Amino acid sequence: MWKHSSFGEYEVRSAYNILLKDEALKSPVELRPPHIPADVWQLIWKVKTPHKVNLFVWKLMQDFIPTFLTLKNRGISTRSICPICDEGDESTSHLFLHCAFARACWHGSTLPIHTSDLSNTSLQIWLSNIILNFKQMDQVRMDYLRSVFTFLWTIWNHRNLVIHDGITPNPIEVILTAHTLPCWLKEAYEKKESHDNSHRGNYSAYQNIGGPWDLIVKVAGARTKRPRRTAFAYEATDLQGIVIFLGTASSGASIANAAAQEALVEVVVKAKGLGFCRILFMCSSRRLAQVCNFNYTPSCKVLFVSRAILGYVYSAAKTTTNVPGPSGRARI
Ligand SMILES: [Zn+2]
Repeated sequence: MWKHSSFGEYEVRSAYNILLKDEALKSPVELRPPHIPADVWQLIWKVKTPHKVNLFVWKLMQDFIPTFLTLKNRGISTRSICPICDEGDESTSHLFLHCAFARACWHGSTLPIHTSDLSNTSLQIWLSNIILNFKQMDQVRMDYLRSVFTFLWTIWNHRNLVIHDGITPNPIEVILTAHTLPCWLKEAYEKKESHDNSHRGNYSAYQNIGGPWDLIVKVAGARTKRPRRTAFAYEATDLQGIVIFLGTASSGASIANAAAQEALVEVVVKAKGLGFCRILFMCSSRRLAQVCNFNYTPSCKVLFVSRAILGYVYSAAKTTTNVPGPSGRARI
């Protein structure tokens, strides 16, 4: 007998309302988040992500995530410094927006979020504004919020691996996971809706959306003014990080982006020849990523990342500009 509902039956909604009330009462005034419009709490649950992700965002908005600062404020921990950058208290705003690690993750993502514009904003205010902007949950807005929610969730999971398993903070892992996860979730929800509507479970129309990828390729194009040369470099690895193939070549293209595009074509031909079908490219040109994602099939995606993430692949492209002419192709 559930005394909090009119018919005595357990209802998730009434449990949620009690929880909301309880937590608000338990929370000391100084720890309460800034005022969040009432609509936000309902809208969080409308975003189609696994329940644990919605719950995570709900806790985030309440500032109930156990960051070091929260634990210290509640007398559970003595330290509050961010374990990743060592440069500030690990509040939710620091962890997800202002930490150098978080900034690198957002910068490398395809989401149009610029953390440099948010230096004086709390995570809760920023997130509630985003959620309220997307009140009408059409497909595009749903996809966007799903991506933001999973991105936050991925940063949190990665932070926990750093603290508890001692892994090295790696923005690429966050970017890749957060990039492919919404694709899988979208696919899963569309399958579910398709199944709910038809009761036949015919999923064939959705099988080509998003990951999982079987090859991850870093691509870079470079150009020097004197002598005026362009070149590209690429490195293809499998999901375990094992290098499958790599290459550089000087290019006949006049701009670095076009050289990188030549690399994309060369990689696709090579990868398909080796039996790899689902390729995720990482390149530092936002423009190229936009253009290619328009033209390529869903089995190839181009992810815009910062040049720092491309590391030695970019250096290799730069070095290859010293190799004379398109005929002087060199392999590494
Ligand atoms: Zn930090």
